[in-house]
Amino acid sequence: MPEPPAGTALAGGADGPRALRPLLDIVLDALATGAAHRAGPLPPGGPDAVAHTVRTACTPLIPEYGTGPHDALRTLVHTLAAGAADPADPRCAAHLHCPPLALATAADLAAGALNPSMDSWDQAPAASELEALTCRELAALVHPAAARPDALVTTGGTESNLLAALLARESAPRDAGPLQIVCGANAHHSIPRAAWLLGLPEPLTLPTPNGVLTPDTVHTCLANLAGHTGPVLLTATAGTTDSGAIDPLPALADLAAHHRARLHIDASYAGPLLFSDTHRPALHGLDRAHTVTLDLHKLGWQPVAAGLLAVPDPATLAPLAHQADYLNADDDTEAGLPDLLGRSLRTTRRPDILKIAVTLKALGRTGLGDLVDRTLAAAQTFADLIDAHPRYELHSRPTLSTVLFRPTGADPTTLATIRRTLLTDGHAVLGRATTPTGLWLKATLLNPHTQPGDLTTLLTLVEGHTPR
Ligand SMILES: *Cc1c(COP(=O)(O)O)cnc(C)c1O
Repeated sequence: MPEPPAGTALAGGADGPRALRPLLDIVLDALATGAAHRAGPLPPGGPDAVAHTVRTACTPLIPEYGTGPHDALRTLVHTLAAGAADPADPRCAAHLHCPPLALATAADLAAGALNPSMDSWDQAPAASELEALTCRELAALVHPAAARPDALVTTGGTESNLLAALLARESAPRDAGPLQIVCGANAHHSIPRAAWLLGLPEPLTLPTPNGVLTPDTVHTCLANLAGHTGPVLLTATAGTTDSGAIDPLPALADLAAHHRARLHIDASYAGPLLFSDTHRPALHGLDRAHTVTLDLHKLGWQPVAAGLLAVPDPATLAPLAHQADYLNADDDTEAGLPDLLGRSLRTTRRPDILKIAVTLKALGRTGLGDLVDRTLAAAQTFADLIDAHPRYELHSRPTLSTVLFRPTGADPTTLATIRRTLLTDGHAVLGRATTPTGLWLKATLLNPHTQPGDLTTLLTLVEGHTPR
């Protein structure tokens, strides 16, 4: 047998690690040189400058004869790192875009090398069992009193919310009326999108004047739906994208029960407060939902993707059952091969559970809870800094790790300019949020190692870009 051509060694098998090790050295070096080159939370210069750098470094992208693995890895990884918005930098704090843990990232490498596919047992014998075990344990944190809680792995909150709406639709007989979703104006955009995708009527969207649903408004809406023949899905949010607010979950659970509506809680952001002894009480009522969205690529420090949809009973998931002879033939299932096809709408699927399981085992519940506590404490510190500053105003005390603030009296154009100038200078990545009191700058703190000095620096940077 002739030697395989350069760059075509495989990642798996007993020889895989030997092929990977020198390549990983190159990758790690390129990550380091890229970050050093950037020297800040994002590359300076804005979209045109970054696009020019990428084009210059990377073309031709499909050369007639390849450059070999070392050059390609060095060039592209360096370019991507140098041009990254890096959430590990405390000044990168716009979105629910978390800095992944090194340990989770290392586990994800193993997932890539082994490449199990989670659509049939014969492609993922151990990975499918690890997924089943880990999902059940995570679901038990959400629904502790349930007899057989379970969870599905998803690509994130968007897919989890879509599945929740689909399962609600399928919970009623075919000849019932259509599913009507009721949500707040604070709901994530993926809720109305799910309704659109599933061919449902537009959600009834209730006002959220203080950032959260008000039980009176929800009661009136559900009472008015009494004549609706189809199922009703009340959707609440635990940790809104704009401000991190948590809807009044116990009152909403009471209302859903009273009006016989299903309850879905989108806890994409706040869900991991379950790990924290200090903050778990903020999620009181979560266990009363029929479906719960969790996202461990936010307050869970996982590389994308790490979403879950938790349910109190596996019967809730029955509508997803599906058969394809080449993946779960009846006789295979009868002979004891686990049937995985009903655990997702996807077919080929990465074992995202590995990094999650490694993180849970390495840190334990209290270790993850401690990261949640540190992150939420950093938000309080930042709010204190803004409160104490004579020229800045704070929107409200943070519930989670989102802090809305602005120079006192700043008009929307000034705020938008501050945000974009910080971006194009490569100094800081801040978000924006519109509330009933106007436009605000948004800091979404997700770095558990952020120090008070980092937050002072962030505020000083904003000050430096604020016209006097
Ligand atoms: C982030 C988020 C989502 C979407 O999650 P993805 O993982 O980006 O798909 C949905 N709902 C809320 C409240 C979120 O914060």
